[in-house]
Amino acid sequence: MTPRSGQFAPAASAALSATGDAPSAWRSPSDGDTPSSGQRRRPHGRLAMLAPVLYLLTKLKVVVVFGKVGVTGLSMLISVWVYAAVWGLGWAAAVGFVALLFVHEMGHWLMMRSKGVPATAPLFIPFLGAVIGMRGMPNSVQDEAAIGIAGPLAGTAGALLCLGLARLYGGHLWPLLAMMGLFLNLFNLLPVSPLDGGRIAGAISRWLWPVGLAGLVGVFLLHPNPFLLLIVLVGGVQTIARFRGRYPPTARPGYADLRVRERVTMAVLYFGLIALIAAAMLGTPLV
Ligand SMILES: [Zn+2]
Repeated sequence: MTPRSGQFAPAASAALSATGDAPSAWRSPSDGDTPSSGQRRRPHGRLAMLAPVLYLLTKLKVVVVFGKVGVTGLSMLISVWVYAAVWGLGWAAAVGFVALLFVHEMGHWLMMRSKGVPATAPLFIPFLGAVIGMRGMPNSVQDEAAIGIAGPLAGTAGALLCLGLARLYGGHLWPLLAMMGLFLNLFNLLPVSPLDGGRIAGAISRWLWPVGLAGLVGVFLLHPNPFLLLIVLVGGVQTIARFRGRYPPTARPGYADLRVRERVTMAVLYFGLIALIAAAMLGTPLV
């Protein structure tokens, strides 16, 4: 992860969010405008010579756009297969789970757009969930927290929809999806980097970070696995650096300045969402 980039990643089950570099560029090249403006100015002879180049550029743009959609789509298909076959979820639940991951990521993506932070296309990583990268950091810790909580808010809405369908139709599939979705979003609200909760915590109180780290170590001790170990190590280093104000992307002067009212608002949203998820989990029919 480069110092200027960040990622939002829901973790699948008790796994972790990925911390690798963001996938290829989100922005499509804007050179599509150049050929047409050039076309109006240049004489026909020169234009004829340029035609093959312009044609190639247009094709290249199509390839780039298709590449982005293709990588997201292909990684979704691979994830569905892995959850269906390797986890033994079955096809319907695997498709539903990947759809819930997608809804979570879209929450981040929409908020990134509204805060003016360019985002990468979502990339689905089997067992880990999905990641969406930021190209550059938000302007303030408040924007970062808003982007951070938008994923769990959207994801929880998706899980609650499954819970509603479970109550309407019963059966096995909807309660399972509701429970998986709720757990996924609750886990991501742990206040530790690089999970969503770690970003939200910056706009509430830095003392949430050590609490989150202790919680993550606790989860690891209860369910030791290599993915959790990785997140404990990477998240631990990042969380301690942020706590000490020495994490370069967020150590800018003024970045963490917030009014008390703004901190309280984010705290109400954050703890309210956790309470809502916990209540919904208690209300989900046993699978
Ligand atoms: Zn997320």
